[in-house]
Amino acid sequence: MTVSPKETTAAFSAAVQQQPSSSCSLDRRCVGVTALTARREPWMNSLLHEPALASLLQQHGSPLNVVTADPMLANVRELDGVAKARSLDFRVFFARKANKCLTFVNAAPLAGSGIDVASLNELEQTLDAGIAASDIICTAAIKNAALVDVCIRNGITLTIDNEDELLLITHTAQNLAKPAAVAIRLSGFVHDDNKLKSRFGVDIEQCESFAKTIPSNHVRVTGLHFHLDGYCAHQRVSAITQSLAVVSQLRQQGHPIQFLDIGGGFPISYLHRGEQWEAFWTEHRCALLGQRSPLTYRNHGLGLIAVDGKIAGAPNSYPYYQTPTRSAWLAKILDSPVTGRTIADQIRDHALQLRCEPGRSILDGCGMTIARVEFRKQNAEGDWLIGLSMNRTQCRTSSDDFLVDPIVIASPEAAGEESREQNNAEPMEGFLVGAYCTESELISLRKLRFPAGIQRGDLVAFPNTAGYLMHFLESRSHQFPLAKNLVYDARSQTPWMLDKIDAE
Ligand SMILES: *Cc1c(COP(=O)(O)O)cnc(C)c1O
Repeated sequence: MTVSPKETTAAFSAAVQQQPSSSCSLDRRCVGVTALTARREPWMNSLLHEPALASLLQQHGSPLNVVTADPMLANVRELDGVAKARSLDFRVFFARKANKCLTFVNAAPLAGSGIDVASLNELEQTLDAGIAASDIICTAAIKNAALVDVCIRNGITLTIDNEDELLLITHTAQNLAKPAAVAIRLSGFVHDDNKLKSRFGVDIEQCESFAKTIPSNHVRVTGLHFHLDGYCAHQRVSAITQSLAVVSQLRQQGHPIQFLDIGGGFPISYLHRGEQWEAFWTEHRCALLGQRSPLTYRNHGLGLIAVDGKIAGAPNSYPYYQTPTRSAWLAKILDSPVTGRTIADQIRDHALQLRCEPGRSILDGCGMTIARVEFRKQNAEGDWLIGLSMNRTQCRTSSDDFLVDPIVIASPEAAGEESREQNNAEPMEGFLVGAYCTESELISLRKLRFPAGIQRGDLVAFPNTAGYLMHFLESRSHQFPLAKNLVYDARSQTPWMLDKIDAE
């Protein structure tokens, strides 16, 4: 089945016009116990009203990832604005491991962003897309000889993590008779009297002696780099302050340090309202203590556990609601005073370019994953199990669950079936289950309510999945094909194009 681009464009404009009133009606077909309502970009609401959606899934398979780069441009601009207001020399390097689509690589120069690559394939595709070497940094956790070779040949800066990497880089630079540019990755910062432990980087206390072993005829240390786990702004303030001291030490050794790269981890919110996030965890704790009905499949703890009538553990989830986010978070770091000068002042005092490598926060608002309902059945406990053509690696990161209410779109075809007539107004409650053959194969562990039922052929959309959720863990177990990635451009004659990553 093919979809005429003209038809979809017309439908798109119609949908844009009806959007405000209809956007909240979208939220009524599926509400979690308790509700976690998604923040959505206007394009997502338009897409969810797009009549061609079901046939796009017929054509490309289920689930289907839909991406668009427009919000990326705004997200980078937001960060640039914060730095500019503080007169900083500043550069974003988008961490493309957060999403494999080439759409985002191609959009980076338009956004004024560079690219952070984490593998040889990511690097080669980025070079093939015509991105300049000076706009690329390679932060791969494991750097084999082939990757190091391509970096040095092309003049791409590498982060350096350990002595063996230094030997390989030195050796390669020597053989190619071309000096390598590197940024030393630092770790082991002290924050609130605790050392921030990490598997990555050179310990900050060892950096000065490590740098002395670097043969400056072959390896130029042009920057310092760190990337911290978590989203704590205060930890970044500690790490920047301590890195600046190392900048001075290394410059005294003669290393031409030009930039400080503070990595990623810029926070975002997936939800509209903080109260919902608070209420969810309050109710979930009550459920784990047996004080109310479960919010999750078999009362899964999501990182918490009830012990002797008390809750222990910590939520194993992304903070789906948090504040401040993205640019406000960056501003908070830059405006933090340390010994009478702000962080921004100190970076300027050191004549450094400030760099960062956000992934998730740059892709905020850039994607959605949509799957088709294949069956419904009631289990022995009376819960409905809704089977989707999708598996859990297609909307998941390393945390326990995607804690955002999905959106149900009634299929026009299903609407015509008898089953719809019979069940139309019947509310249902249960879980979304996926295609892998394990008992634990749930698309979401959360119990969901479908006030007007849900049917075979209906679509279930997961909002804001571009950052990590689509691709980070996707697997081909059972030999299911990987989900296709469709680029949505409402302004184009052909608003639906497969991303080039899917081109054979
Ligand atoms: C993953 C990663 C990033 C991006 O992190 P986000 O949380 O997506 O902003 C940046 N730099 C390095 C070195 C990383 O490993």
